Amino acid sequence: MKITVLAGGVGGARFALGLRDAARELHGDADIRIVTNVGDDVWLAGVKVCPDLDSLLYALAGVGDTERGWGRAGESERVAAELTAYGVGWPWFTLGDLDLGTHLARTAMLRDGATLTEATARLAARWPVGATLLPVTDDEVPTHVVTDEGVLHFEEWWVRTRAQLPAHRFVQHGVERSRIAPAARTAIADADVILLAPSNPVVSIGTIIGIPGVRDALETATAPVVGVAPIIGGRAVRGMAEACLAAIGVEADAAAIAAHYGARSAGGLLDGWLLAEEDAASLATVEALGIRAAVRPLWLTPGAPAAQVARDALQLAASIAG
Ligand code: GDP
Ligand code: CA
Repeated sequence: MKITVLAGGVGGARFALGLRDAARELHGDADIRIVTNVGDDVWLAGVKVCPDLDSLLYALAGVGDTERGWGRAGESERVAAELTAYGVGWPWFTLGDLDLGTHLARTAMLRDGATLTEATARLAARWPVGATLLPVTDDEVPTHVVTDEGVLHFEEWWVRTRAQLPAHRFVQHGVERSRIAPAARTAIADADVILLAPSNPVVSIGTIIGIPGVRDALETATAPVVGVAPIIGGRAVRGMAEACLAAIGVEADAAAIAAHYGARSAGGLLDGWLLAEEDAASLATVEALGIRAAVRPLWLTPGAPAAQVARDALQLAASIAG
């Protein structure tokens, strides 16, 4: 059973943990590949930081800081204090010492000529991750945010302004020259099931599907495509997805996001969509779009509840595949 997931960082990691548990029970031999957003990636203090890949890596490796929700557990910040003293990097964007080890290792591999796909595989090989992490592209496509105060890198807008500065537009710098990474393309093409994690529809899933080659790969894939709503009862569970949705004129509503992705039968992305129980009233609206919908608990509480969300997504996909 080949399961391919499109995912961002935090929502992506919570879903991936549940999926790994669910897949182990259902199909002992499941091959999970996670096609990951790289729009948040940034060069800081001379090293390449990949926030979404690292959130997934640390969570699946069991070395993440589950309380903070990002970075490594047991982290210290001695190097960050030195960098700040030199005025290097972003003082509001802390790079922990252990985390810097990852970024230094990745940067060394890239400097030696590895692609980001190859470097990610080498980083992941250290731990029993139980899934393959695949950057959607090996090219650099930083997300820029157009605001009244100028154009900011996504991480500056997200972390420094906490998405409080109204965003007019998100721009993938360099996207027209980028292309889908070969391993990501294969993961979509030969999957038995394709799942959209409950990730930010704009700056995680949106950036992934904006990479040239991704939409084509999804269109021609034989696997059913099932998404999990990242909005429950009109609110993003964690993070500030509402601010991103506002910029693209999409309501923070599970059915509105399904409509934004569109039915695959009508040139969109989705065959199926999991709605939270809080959004049960939207079932008919989503089905009227030509998307098979199901209503389930969608709180990704670690452990059994997160695994159940993944099981429900797999089940909806199986019922679509017939
Ligand atoms: P980021 O890259 O760290 O921003 O993380 P993602 O893009 O992968 O996911 C962020 C989104 O996940 C949030 O904006 C929420 O909408 C969604 N999310 C987080 N926790 C949950 C949860 O428990 N259930 C559901 N359904 N969605 C969640
Ligand atoms: Ca992210």
